[in-house]
Amino acid sequence: MAYERKEISIDSIRRQEDICRDIYEKFVADKARPLAMVDTYGCQQNEADSEKLRGYLAEMGYAFTQDEFEADVIVVNTCAVREHAEMRVLGNVGQLNHSKKQRPGQIIAVCGCMVQQEHMTEKIKKSYPVVDLVFGPHELWRFPELLLKTMTGHKRVFAAEKCDGYVAEGMPLKRDSSVKAWLSIMYGCNNFCTYCVVPYVRGRERSRRPEDIVAEARQLVESGCKDITLLGQNVNSYGKDLGSDVDFADLIRMINDIPGEFLIRFMTSHPKDATEKLFKTMAECEKCAHQLHLPVQSGNDRVLKAMNRSYTAEKYLEQVRLARKYMPDIVLTTDIIVGFPGETDEEFEDTIRLCDEVRYDAMFTFIYSKRVGTPAASMPDAATREDKQRRFDKLLEAANRVSAEKHAEYIGKTVRVLVDGETGKAEYNLSSRTNGGRLVHLSGDKSLIGKFIDVKITSGNTWALYGKVEEE
Ligand code: SAH
Ligand code: SF4
Repeated sequence: MAYERKEISIDSIRRQEDICRDIYEKFVADKARPLAMVDTYGCQQNEADSEKLRGYLAEMGYAFTQDEFEADVIVVNTCAVREHAEMRVLGNVGQLNHSKKQRPGQIIAVCGCMVQQEHMTEKIKKSYPVVDLVFGPHELWRFPELLLKTMTGHKRVFAAEKCDGYVAEGMPLKRDSSVKAWLSIMYGCNNFCTYCVVPYVRGRERSRRPEDIVAEARQLVESGCKDITLLGQNVNSYGKDLGSDVDFADLIRMINDIPGEFLIRFMTSHPKDATEKLFKTMAECEKCAHQLHLPVQSGNDRVLKAMNRSYTAEKYLEQVRLARKYMPDIVLTTDIIVGFPGETDEEFEDTIRLCDEVRYDAMFTFIYSKRVGTPAASMPDAATREDKQRRFDKLLEAANRVSAEKHAEYIGKTVRVLVDGETGKAEYNLSSRTNGGRLVHLSGDKSLIGKFIDVKITSGNTWALYGKVEEE
């Protein structure tokens, strides 16, 4: 059945904010100083969603804490991409028994992708009585209503119906940083890679309107933000569902036209849809970072086909060559799944070969994790856990070696970085990022945070670079 785009009206969001105001007024009348804790797992999209949860909570009058024993409300925003993340969530939610015992009025909410899966909601219903409220990603826009129902109804609330998803504009946001920001440009995914749960839990692909995105970007820049990361599961299909003539490259250009000194980054880019126009636009737009996260997943064509990735290793390598033709200094990163069902040792060697050829600046490597309801979950899988671990270790070693070699090439060079925060350490107290997104630790005054400065790279390892601030 064709997907019909649905928007949540601005009036509906205002009604949610009215609820926030009622809750706020009640707290003021009671002279209460309520605290909330939001715990986030998984991807940047979840980080962005948590900023919306905090936005609503702040409007209700909550201040924030990291200590579950102090919190009146705890929201756990979960991830379903791999089993490991789910186990961590369940373990940590189980532990909340202790804080709830000390604070009997404490409300515990679990939201996000994990609970959009029916079997997980059932599990929480049956085995985690400590949880008072469960809501899926499609219900986030009405979190105030759901929280109020939980506060006043004296019974558990579950809201995670099957849904293709909405677009909701105008929700309040409480951002983590004033220097860097996540900016969601689209939600959901239509690609149905056979291993992946995202299309089932995040719904169909839906793009925000270009004017809403540009307005948000402009507001960010005007408030001093210097580094904007555009988010989507596959930003390269931006706009297709809108039927507008603005594609992702056009959107970059529109944001690039906003006056001010700032960087535009984005993730994630699906190799099947990356275009020459995108690379050309990236090269031409002076604010667009020369950074590309282009997940390859495997270097073997049979495996890629079984994954439903819709490209071959050769087509992928062509994309890399094209990106490097337009931006010789581009920083390239990738995601790889090791041990996809049916992957043989020989097929895995193709992945190693592809990585040797590309020489990624950094790689995010994962052992395949079976996800309920996905096609790959019922594919035959002869490899043992030990086989997969051996492959994984070999890939990780190759990845770390190349990252360290790439970082060594920076030593002695002067690079421009954006100082984005403190490390909490005495030496190398500041963290910064290069245009390509590599992490550089520095020593300096914290008044440098939010500034673009030149630094001389003095050393580096697999994970980071270390530098010295150049005199002005
Ligand atoms: N939309 C992004 C990826 C989102 S999930 C893209 O297509 O690139 C982030 C990464 O998690 C994926 O790139 C993949 O490498 C990994 N991943 C997804 N499902 C997985 C699974 N079932 N097991 C192991 N890794 C998985
Ligand atoms: Fe998952 Fe593939 Fe969609 Fe990425 S593109 S979210 S890997 S289905």
